Amino acid sequence: MSIPNSIPMTILLVEDDEVDVMNVKRAFKKNNISNQLIVASNGLDALAMLRSNSPEYPRPKIVLLDLNMPKMGGIEFLKEIRQDPELASLSVFVMTTSNEDSDKIDAFNLNVAGYILKPLSMDRFIAAVSTLNSYWTLCEYPQ
Ligand SMILES: [Mg+2]
Repeated sequence: MSIPNSIPMTILLVEDDEVDVMNVKRAFKKNNISNQLIVASNGLDALAMLRSNSPEYPRPKIVLLDLNMPKMGGIEFLKEIRQDPELASLSVFVMTTSNEDSDKIDAFNLNVAGYILKPLSMDRFIAAVSTLNSYWTLCEYPQ
């Protein structure tokens, strides 16, 4: 028998658009998702948070990742984490406006767990986040 995790996993959102950050927070609230959400505004900031070992930024197991961002975009961020033994196992869901096949190919070659195309209406976005929550609640992750 397994012991359920008592502390909900931290989720890292990497997103440069403040409205999109607000929408994710809103969708979390609407779905009663209590996981701590930490936000980085680009890939570089996200890497710094992940590598800081600061109690302020508990190590997440799940990343929600935008692709088009200044300083370091999502694909470059994925390349970095997949080469880092400490971060390689992160479960990453892309949430992007990019419908480019090359982005989808790159993302899946870098082992993303999913690729979600924006924009969605708020209702559909809330439903999408609910589906993600069901998925990561169902799955077992290493401690
Ligand atoms: Mg963006």
